[in-house]
Amino acid sequence: MKILVINCGSSSLKYQLIDMENEKVLGKGLVERIAIEGSKLTQTAEGKETFVLEAEMPTHTEAIKFVFDALTDKEHGVVESLDEISGIGHRVVHGGDKLAEPVIVTPEVKDIILQFAEFAPLHNPANLMGIEACEENAPGKPNVAVFDTAFHQTMPDYVYMYPIPYEYYKKYHIRKYGFHGTSHKYISYQLAEVLGKDREEVNAVSLHLGNGSSLCAIKDGICYDTSMGLTPLEGLSMGTRSGNIDPSVVTYLMEKENLTPAQMSDILNKKSGVLGVSGLSSDFRDLEEAANTENERAELALDMFVLRVKRFLGGFMAELGKCDAIVMTGGIGENGITMRKAVLENMEHLGITLDEQRNDVRGKVQEISGEDSKVKVFVIPTNEELMIARDTLSLIQ
Ligand code: ADP
Repeated sequence: MKILVINCGSSSLKYQLIDMENEKVLGKGLVERIAIEGSKLTQTAEGKETFVLEAEMPTHTEAIKFVFDALTDKEHGVVESLDEISGIGHRVVHGGDKLAEPVIVTPEVKDIILQFAEFAPLHNPANLMGIEACEENAPGKPNVAVFDTAFHQTMPDYVYMYPIPYEYYKKYHIRKYGFHGTSHKYISYQLAEVLGKDREEVNAVSLHLGNGSSLCAIKDGICYDTSMGLTPLEGLSMGTRSGNIDPSVVTYLMEKENLTPAQMSDILNKKSGVLGVSGLSSDFRDLEEAANTENERAELALDMFVLRVKRFLGGFMAELGKCDAIVMTGGIGENGITMRKAVLENMEHLGITLDEQRNDVRGKVQEISGEDSKVKVFVIPTNEELMIARDTLSLIQ
């Protein structure tokens, strides 16, 4: 069976067609500048030349039509007809507290995606456009929604509640939801395999460190706590997001600078984090390069990031009680040799040691902890698309 995975943004769309017999990617692509002049589709497939198509794509419906055309193209395509595709899995960011598992899309599911768009205004509406574009272009084909929030739905109430008046939880569904769930779930499955354990035996902390970063405390194979919250703004400092700060900073700045909620949200989501502190870049490679030439603010931004990762890692280990492993994933977790070292340094008292030689690795599964490390540390590349495809397959079967 072949499953198409779609990750739809407001003006871009990523896709992968996966053969589930061997979990191999048959073809993948990116559509950029949807609804903007200069729309472009780029598709790559093993053994084929990169296919680039420039055409007008005023909405996601046209974009999806071009994706289907590219996948079935005589010369550049990877399947003969759409009949070969058994189902379509969609990444959806926010499923709120209504959807704890991947689901086949129905009108009710679409209503829930819209309801929680309030908490993910940049993502949910775009995710829904992708689903509807597939429904239009391939009527009758099953569409499955896989939510970033789903894996975190097992958190107990005392973990997901915020200590604010209870009525706001009742009235507005304000609570911690968590994100990157598909990645953390994939990591929990891979880790079980690596450790040779059943999934229910996995007690670990998963660190997804990328442009957006989050940690997940996994207890007996399911999520116990995670660092992101109502929205992906909570937790670590990130590329452009502030993560946790004293909430009074927000009210104080709004008053002093006469900022609207939208302006304040923009500052916290897009102008903060390592970008805001360094004034230089949100990209960790740029910051490491600058820090090497003694750029003090780049150093400060990196030190602040590392401190926060340690803070959450230590906190989650304390929460878990029993922690067999730590996993590093995401662009920084998989490739950032220096960042991994900085995070894991001086943690012997928590039973963690690093083997610097083993740590000299990028983008593959490897244990990087020392022989004497009580807690094993692994690099495991994440694969959200494959997790979505697996979830889609198990639902449509
Ligand atoms: P996203 O959250 O957008 O999916 P990624 O998971 O791709 O992001 O992570 C992007 C981050 O990973 C960037 O900050 C980038 O600098 C960092 N990164 C990628 N390769 C390296 C590397 N070799 N060393 C350090 N950081 C890296």
